[in-house]
Amino acid sequence: MKLYNTLTKQKEEFVPIQPNKVSMYHCGPTVYWTQHIGNMRAVVMADLIKRSFHYLNYDVTLVRNYTDVGHLTGDNEGDADTGEDRMAKAAQRESVDPMTIAKKYTDIYESDRESLNTLKPEHCPAATNHIQEMVDMVQILIDKGFAYSTDLAIYFDVTKKSDYTKLSGQDIAEQISDAGHGSVSDPGKRNPQDFSLWFFKVGSHSNALQTWESPFTSPLVKHGEGFPGWHIECSAMSQKYLGDSFDIHMGGIEHIPIHHTNEIAQSESATGKTMSTYWVHNEHLSVNGGKMSKSEGTSYTISDLEEKGFSALDLRYFFLQAHYRSKQNFTWESLTASQTALNKIYKEIIQLRNTSENTIGKINAELKEVFIEKISDDINLPQALAVLHKVLKSDICDSDKLATIYDFDHVLGLKLSEYTETKINIPDEIIKLLKFRAEARNNKDWETSDQIRDEIIGLGYQVLDVDGEQKIKPM
Ligand SMILES: [Zn+2]
Repeated sequence: MKLYNTLTKQKEEFVPIQPNKVSMYHCGPTVYWTQHIGNMRAVVMADLIKRSFHYLNYDVTLVRNYTDVGHLTGDNEGDADTGEDRMAKAAQRESVDPMTIAKKYTDIYESDRESLNTLKPEHCPAATNHIQEMVDMVQILIDKGFAYSTDLAIYFDVTKKSDYTKLSGQDIAEQISDAGHGSVSDPGKRNPQDFSLWFFKVGSHSNALQTWESPFTSPLVKHGEGFPGWHIECSAMSQKYLGDSFDIHMGGIEHIPIHHTNEIAQSESATGKTMSTYWVHNEHLSVNGGKMSKSEGTSYTISDLEEKGFSALDLRYFFLQAHYRSKQNFTWESLTASQTALNKIYKEIIQLRNTSENTIGKINAELKEVFIEKISDDINLPQALAVLHKVLKSDICDSDKLATIYDFDHVLGLKLSEYTETKINIPDEIIKLLKFRAEARNNKDWETSDQIRDEIIGLGYQVLDVDGEQKIKPM
């Protein structure tokens, strides 16, 4: 197995810390809103890495956290120490308490994660359940001289870590300007790029909703009351579940200069050991060639897709077509093409089951070897997917075809062996109405079109207009 390591900027042979075991940490969602499909792409990419290692007989332990405190909005500007707490902002938006927000969006995330057929991580720790572990690590950093206290916060002093920017390869001045650290909001801060480990409940955070006592002292608060910084969460939780050193740390490329750089600084200063051997970063998803944006309505979620008649597995198939280190562009046309391609595979499987009388033959060794070669080359799923198509086109016998593609699906995760044909018998009456509606739409007679749609709804069916075509779904 070869993996591209951001730390060394090259593909490296994967050598695990313990033979045949993979320990992996993936920075998880901040549970303050429904995750858009760009975030869910990262979850699928981590799943493909996990499944590929499984396929190669590694025992994988994946940890993905829920951030339910301490992630400030300033992170959007590259400075996670400024702005409002995302959880508090969401709580205000929906007039409930932050833990209600956390529960609601964790549940939505979990349901979306499952519908994308990604395997559940072995551990899914929530930050608010690990405050003590974070406090302990901050205390070690203070004791070792890496951290200091001001009236407002506890900071990590980046000048104490000589290889602080080793992940990004940036020089420190470049990092300061990139991170928007130009203006210093705390006069007690020693260096502009020092980052917060613990915020006291003072100043702009004096009304913070989620706070805990701590052993740290500020003349302005009682019992060190405050909340952890975002970066320390991942350092504390990865250490608890995977130990001081683990094999793979994964996250989006935007985390390289700040979040992951700071995680390394904290963990390696606290333990004196290498945090993670491999640093794996996924590229972003764009929509219609641009950045996904809530204000432009392009921050699509799984339920937006489902409303238009697509399944989460259509999206998974779409994601399989781009490498995790490549940017991918989402359009409704490309999702429609993925849906068509996936349905074609399902149809071929039904046919293979019929012709082979449902016997599962032998996995074709030659094609399996090619498949392994592709996934072992830095998880090259687009090429691995091409091998699946090669199997379908090959002249091996039908029962062996079935066995081989079911085997590949342990990585692809398209539920190929579970697929069953469900025929919807649409009544003639509805078919007639759809014809009239298509005519009305051709004539741009939207009023009649809407009337017919309501009539169809009255008969218990939903009409979806996807790319100029009407799709029908029982309600
Ligand atoms: Zn993280």
